[in-house]
Amino acid sequence: MSRFWSPLVQSLVPYVPGEQPKDRPFLKLNTNENPHGPSPRALEAIRAATGDGLRLYPDPVAGDLRAAVADRFGLTPAHVFAGNGSDEVLAHAFNAFFGGGGAVLFADVTYSFYPTYCRLYGLAHRLIPLSEDFSCDVTMYRGPCAGIVIANPNAPTGIPLNLMAIEAVLRANPDVVVIVDEAYVDFGAETAASLIPAHDNLLVIHTFSKSRSLAGLRVGLALGQPHLIEGLVRVKDSFNSYPLGRLALAGALAAWQDRDWFDSTRKQVMADRDAMASGLRAQGFEVLPSAANFLLASHHRLRAEAILAALRERGILVRHFRQDRIRNWLRISVGTTTECAALLAATAEILR
Ligand SMILES: *Cc1c(COP(=O)(O)O)cnc(C)c1O
Repeated sequence: MSRFWSPLVQSLVPYVPGEQPKDRPFLKLNTNENPHGPSPRALEAIRAATGDGLRLYPDPVAGDLRAAVADRFGLTPAHVFAGNGSDEVLAHAFNAFFGGGGAVLFADVTYSFYPTYCRLYGLAHRLIPLSEDFSCDVTMYRGPCAGIVIANPNAPTGIPLNLMAIEAVLRANPDVVVIVDEAYVDFGAETAASLIPAHDNLLVIHTFSKSRSLAGLRVGLALGQPHLIEGLVRVKDSFNSYPLGRLALAGALAAWQDRDWFDSTRKQVMADRDAMASGLRAQGFEVLPSAANFLLASHHRLRAEAILAALRERGILVRHFRQDRIRNWLRISVGTTTECAALLAATAEILR
């Protein structure tokens, strides 16, 4: 606390990201990073962009990247926004679209950045409770409200919604923007991008951090009808005209174009996820059905916090959220096949 802080800054409750320890080597299964590394072509493109050209500002509209992304979804560049990580894109979207009065709706168990943005922009929010099994009854999303944000698949549960459910939310709330945060969609859910032409209130958010293994590069996207993208551009150009540097633009474009790397690595993650889920269930864990690159798991015999501490002693980090409904659950990111096996060996030993 400082006497120089504005009342707004005093009231903020910042998001707390997962730990990035520097003191000793941990097996990091705590922040949903992709263990397979970025596309070699992306790394090559980043190296090639490192030179005297860095004295020049980057393309403020990220034209090449947006064109490549649009092409993949059968959209136009005017349907695509690019920002410095999808967290920034989400923040701009809350700022641009959720100020119309009333509360922003999102699930009681979901990405904890959403309430943080609401505080930052002075927006009220209302939690929509997930069912006992953490599934989502989308009929509970109906106005009046200021807007809706749904993570699909949800985080930290990993549970996906199908497109019919997303479309039902869009139809029931035609007068507010519905943000679908698809950070994990490439690991087994279906993107709502195909619904964009028919729904002027849909904004789909993607990130390069998870399925393209570029969390360190900070690139995120929004897809929506041009009037929504223009709103985001107005916010961006009132904040930072150059959110993506030259290295990020070069790396993201090459990663986007390397379809083979993307497909082989995400399929590997899905296979390792399913094997790790079976392994954990065989040890007596309850594991939620995940379409993401992580599992949410709970054991009837040992408290989550005890398992968390015991894993840490063995050099393995997983994520625990101090939040009522998931206090006895751990979120475990999917590592390589070897790393998943190491996690299973450690939990087996802890339970013994
Ligand atoms: C990881 C994550 C993001 C943000 O990723 P960036 O690294 O900022 O692109 C957004 N939403 C959810 C649900 C996430 O888990």
